[in-house]
Amino acid sequence: MAIGAWILIALMSIWCVESKYMVYNTTSKIVPGKLNVHLVAHSHDDVGWLKTVDQYYVGSNNSIQGACVQNVLDSIVPALLADKNRKFIYVEQAFFQRWWRDQSETVQETVKQLINSGQLELINGGMCMHDEATSHYIDMIDQTTLGHRFIKQEFNLTPRIGWQIDPFGHSAVQAYLLSAEVGFDSLFFARIDYQDRAKRKDEKSLEVVWRGSKSLGSSAQIFAGAFPENYEPPSNFYYEVNDDSPIVQDNMELFDYNVPERVNEFVAAALSQANITRTNHVMWTMGTDFKYQYAHTWFRQMDKFIHYVNQDGRVNALYSTPSIYTDAKYATNEAWPLKTDDYFPYADRINAYWTGYFTSRPGLKGYVRTMSSYYLAARQLEFFKGRSKVRPNTDYLADALALAQHHDGLTGTSKQHVANDYAKRLSIGYEEAKKVVETSLASITSSSSKTDSGSPVTKFQQCLLLNISYCPASEVDLSNGKNLVVVVYNPLGWKREDVIRIPVIDENVIVKDSEGKEIESQLLPLPNASLTIRNHYSVAYLGKFPSVTPKYWLAFSASAPPIGLNTYFISKSKRPDTVVAAPSKSHVVYISEEKQNDVIEVGPGDLKLVYSANQGKLIGYINSRTMVKESVGQSYSFYSGSVDKKQASGAYVFRPNHTYSTKSDGQASFTVLRGPLLDEVHQRINSWIYQITRVYKGKEHAEFEFIVGPIPTDDGIGKEVVTQISTHMKTNKTFYTDSSGRDFLERIRDYRKDWKLEVNQPVAGNYYPINLGMYIKDASKELSILVDRSVGGASIKDGHLELMLHRRLLHDDGRGVAEALNETVCILNKCSGLTVVGKYYLRIDPLGEAAKWRRSFGQEIYSPFLLAFTEQEGDGWTNSHVLSFTGMDPSYVLPDNVAMITLQELDDGKVLLRLAHLYEIGEDKDLSVMASVQLKKVFAHRKINKLTEMSLSANQGRAEMEKKRLVWKAEGFPGEAPQVMRGGPVDPATLVVELAPMEIRTFVIDFD
Ligand SMILES: [Zn+2]
Repeated sequence: MAIGAWILIALMSIWCVESKYMVYNTTSKIVPGKLNVHLVAHSHDDVGWLKTVDQYYVGSNNSIQGACVQNVLDSIVPALLADKNRKFIYVEQAFFQRWWRDQSETVQETVKQLINSGQLELINGGMCMHDEATSHYIDMIDQTTLGHRFIKQEFNLTPRIGWQIDPFGHSAVQAYLLSAEVGFDSLFFARIDYQDRAKRKDEKSLEVVWRGSKSLGSSAQIFAGAFPENYEPPSNFYYEVNDDSPIVQDNMELFDYNVPERVNEFVAAALSQANITRTNHVMWTMGTDFKYQYAHTWFRQMDKFIHYVNQDGRVNALYSTPSIYTDAKYATNEAWPLKTDDYFPYADRINAYWTGYFTSRPGLKGYVRTMSSYYLAARQLEFFKGRSKVRPNTDYLADALALAQHHDGLTGTSKQHVANDYAKRLSIGYEEAKKVVETSLASITSSSSKTDSGSPVTKFQQCLLLNISYCPASEVDLSNGKNLVVVVYNPLGWKREDVIRIPVIDENVIVKDSEGKEIESQLLPLPNASLTIRNHYSVAYLGKFPSVTPKYWLAFSASAPPIGLNTYFISKSKRPDTVVAAPSKSHVVYISEEKQNDVIEVGPGDLKLVYSANQGKLIGYINSRTMVKESVGQSYSFYSGSVDKKQASGAYVFRPNHTYSTKSDGQASFTVLRGPLLDEVHQRINSWIYQITRVYKGKEHAEFEFIVGPIPTDDGIGKEVVTQISTHMKTNKTFYTDSSGRDFLERIRDYRKDWKLEVNQPVAGNYYPINLGMYIKDASKELSILVDRSVGGASIKDGHLELMLHRRLLHDDGRGVAEALNETVCILNKCSGLTVVGKYYLRIDPLGEAAKWRRSFGQEIYSPFLLAFTEQEGDGWTNSHVLSFTGMDPSYVLPDNVAMITLQELDDGKVLLRLAHLYEIGEDKDLSVMASVQLKKVFAHRKINKLTEMSLSANQGRAEMEKKRLVWKAEGFPGEAPQVMRGGPVDPATLVVELAPMEIRTFVIDFD
């Protein structure tokens, strides 16, 4: 009786609890003296990966991945409005801007309020979260500027935080340039080597002060935090609609009430993170890929956690952002471990080095680099013409390039259809920018003083496919007195001379300069290897077979003034008996088979490459000017990609099984072509590798052009093709590679500065990303290699360097892309492996004298001459056109250590200018010094009204940025950090800009 009554009363009391609206207390702020758990709500939205950027935005193609970014942003707004303590960060501007354009004014107004109140914070702020290994620093700056300026214009805000949570390793340039120099207060990321991470957890050194630049030191340092695991929540705290983490069930009327258990688990996870973190602040990244598509599910749980955990009182949980977290860390006044150099290469576990993506999709990587350089030149020409508010302009190309920098874009780690989408966008952008370039060149060359007002506007053509020797504009019949006009535009701030090559159909042609003087030229027969690829790819990409077949490359030496152009004319030789007479020296086709002499020296100038003709191999390098002499070999081989189920080689991961030298398969051949301007060595290495080595009269480097592919896989083996340079130089395991195309970092084989490396992949674990080049040195020499796109490189043996040029693999490496990296090109449903054409350059200098070539010529590789063609009857052109032009004062050139990396007219008519010092401190005895640029001479044709120095991404005044900068303390540097060299303020009267080594200065200019 008594028991029954008790049960009844107990049950009654539960039933009588009135179900009512529960208000969760989410007001918590930081509590000093307690462990503060900063809950940072975020969604990681890849700007293309398994689906294209547009598919992710609208939420189509969901059979691949259920992801719709529109849902994320749509659902964030009401979720934040529901509780003013809730916070959310948003990162990828490519998505945000798509969404923003779709919103009503009312929603836009609401979002502005959410942003102003700090509930919604835009961080990182570039169009995408760019990759840090394969992106060039100029592209990183451009894509960040695009996003940052939009945020400034629309919201009058500057992002404070770098949020590179997914890129696969982290570059020094990201730390000092794209974080400190854009005014970020901190930088966060997730992917560092698993061995490094383990040690940092032990030592509580995941959070550091990172000085990425030797030259700029503490003046460009950043507080940087690597997450303890990844960018996801602790396990069991995932709350997307269909996630299976236990929710907080706090309704006593329902079964499974679990508040105490969930609070305990929360506190345990927080304490465990606190054990590896300095100060009493830890950050929880509450979100992951494409989460918050129904934001309420996350916020409902976080509301409850904050409420009950704080009621519990052991730790303090709060809604936070990386900004709030950063300020809290700063307020502790802690000194942080100092980090220098970078976080490459990245392995997420044993045998899993993410060094394959340094080379994956080399065709796309080459295309991005070509477009990047074209965009730089096109903006200069757009500036000269005056930017038009209506299209065509360069905006689409800017946007396409920005998207391609995404960490699954030019990394080559997206699905094939997504890679195609990046390329399609670049192609559309190029077609539009091309029109800008052509009208600008027409307007520059048709000066009003020389042209009748009635004369027709010149129609220029360009040849993007010159790399596969396809150029309809130059493959023209000149027999009826026509001239081919070649306008050569030089986007560099120095006068420059270069041998250009264009395909021609006629062997009796001469080249004249702008003064009408015939200049030396040389014809080189187009090898079958080039013609094959030309024909194949013309059909594949243009849908048609070329109508004519050029027989020759016409080569001549062209020069052009800084940021300016020069004109050359190609015409049929007027000598009556050209065809039968012995051709003049200027256009002889030189072919010789010299196999009987074993040693052959190649090169018309100071540089000779020495070959063994019997073996068809490079054996030596001699520069008679510098007296450098070295035995040098060069070869190709391939690694067979591992197919181990636990870890195969794939788009991300490089895991070689064996190395094989390429066998000649009976097709090897060796031919030397000699001429007055350059010598060429043609080598058929095997049935799928062809190489042309060029040595120019006026240059002291060798140029290697490779044609690699289709890589055969009919033996069931994926292949990763490398070229190797071998010398006897004693290099003591040491080599140097660039960081995102800028600073050179020392690398030591099988060694890491930050921890004792356990070597499990002696090849893959020694690969580094190369954007500009790499070098080795011994007691007397430096051997440098420069590249035309991003690739992976290593020094696996002393005295050796190798570059990975192409990869074709048959297995997925298990990192999510779920496709083998097996690029093919199809014609009428017949597909074959992708062939890649590219170049690299080699030079050996006396020790200490190599930086000049690496820096100056490196800039020339980045910014080749832009060529435009038109036809003209007789001599009409010379009389009616401007033949030579410079945008600067004709007596002025930029100093040898400075490049103009941006010249761009902005929407508002102001002009964005970036000048970059190209040398590091101590890199060159003459050029690692303060440089100065005279803006009055750079803009000789315009009057500067106002010059404002800006942050790197041009979204705030430099002075304003400096004033706000948090000064972090590094361990071992208790007082003021040592002074570093920086250019001084610009005097508005003289307008001279100083640049210290590695400094980049950004200005917005108002012209009168
Ligand atoms: Zn990602």
